[in-house]
Amino acid sequence: METLELTLRKQKNIALIAHDGKKAELIDWCREHAEQLKKHFLCGTGTTARMITDATDLPVKAYNSGPLGGDQQIGARIVEGKIDIVIFFSDPLTAAPHDPDVKALMRIAQVYDVPFAANRASADFIISSPLMEEEYNHTVINFKQNIENRVKELK
Ligand code: PGA
Repeated sequence: METLELTLRKQKNIALIAHDGKKAELIDWCREHAEQLKKHFLCGTGTTARMITDATDLPVKAYNSGPLGGDQQIGARIVEGKIDIVIFFSDPLTAAPHDPDVKALMRIAQVYDVPFAANRASADFIISSPLMEEEYNHTVINFKQNIENRVKELK
């Protein structure tokens, strides 16, 4: 499969999402890392974004609420190359109606080689990485070429 190299800039676009049982933990994590988070662009699913902004004053651009399509909006932004990192404190002990959307978001983050933290320890490792302050080149599938190849193959 042909690949191409993309650059994540020094200032990262970070998506923040937490299931209801994990919102307090994510807010606490944002407080702990507010100085670092301030240096980047933040966005999140509707309720999470609002609650973080209310609690910490960090500006977090809000998409729709997760169960109403917010996770899918964030997935679409990953496809467009507009999100560099996902911090998603999902709740492994509670069933969610939008579980397929959550899986889809995780999958698309994998496809586009986007760093993805599903719990606090992973988020700590990401936020304290020296790469947060640097440009970072990563390799993704060349999607235009991929379509060309598929069209040739399937004709
Ligand atoms: P919310 O969505 O921030 O609107 O609660 C999060 C989710 O459950 O995906």
